Amino acid sequence: MNLTTDALRKLHRIHQQLADLRSELERGPLQIKAGNANLDRIREINEAAQENLTQAKVACAAKQLQLQTAEDRITDLKRKRNECGTNKEFQSLIEQIAADEMATSVLSDEILEIMEKIDEHQKTADEAQTQVESVQEDLEKFKQRVEGKRQTLETDIGRISDELTEKETALPANFKTDYDRVVKARGDEALAAVEGEMCSGCYQMVTSQMLNDLYMSRPVFCKSCGRLLYLPEDSKGG
Ligand SMILES: [Zn+2]
Repeated sequence: MNLTTDALRKLHRIHQQLADLRSELERGPLQIKAGNANLDRIREINEAAQENLTQAKVACAAKQLQLQTAEDRITDLKRKRNECGTNKEFQSLIEQIAADEMATSVLSDEILEIMEKIDEHQKTADEAQTQVESVQEDLEKFKQRVEGKRQTLETDIGRISDELTEKETALPANFKTDYDRVVKARGDEALAAVEGEMCSGCYQMVTSQMLNDLYMSRPVFCKSCGRLLYLPEDSKGG
């Protein structure tokens, strides 16, 4: 292999393929990281919903205990009222019973309100729980897909890297240093085709001397951006 147009074009294509595969390989873990962050966020929402439900249930139980205590007191007062001896005592008990019955009525209303809230909290909490499970399941499947793809990508990268090494080893020795330098600096953008007498990397004009050199299969670097140039496929060079 020497510096024919065909050889340089192939080299460029290999660099681009490798860059694409590597960026795809890097994308997987980034997507998983974003997925984990999303799951954490949904878990937090779920925890808050479960906590709201628990608190509402605790508040309801406390009110129900209050109600039970008040009802027991009313029963006790009614018993005393039936057994009392004086009119004054009787009047006083009647008033206490009326006041307590008012209080239990308010408590009953409050309990109904809390129970309605519990229903709402229960619904929200159930939905949040379902969502956590669904997101978790999707994420697991996604992780498996990424893992499967990782293996394929690594195999492809290995194969194409070998191909690259093989092609690079065949490059003329006196040219290898310049080539290595530009590849190190620019990676998959180390090479550029000449299109319409312009470097397709930076759109600067290519001189006729440079074109002549290209037709002679000599190494030509763009004077503006430093990319290694090659002729387009339909040219007579190479
Ligand atoms: Zn250029």
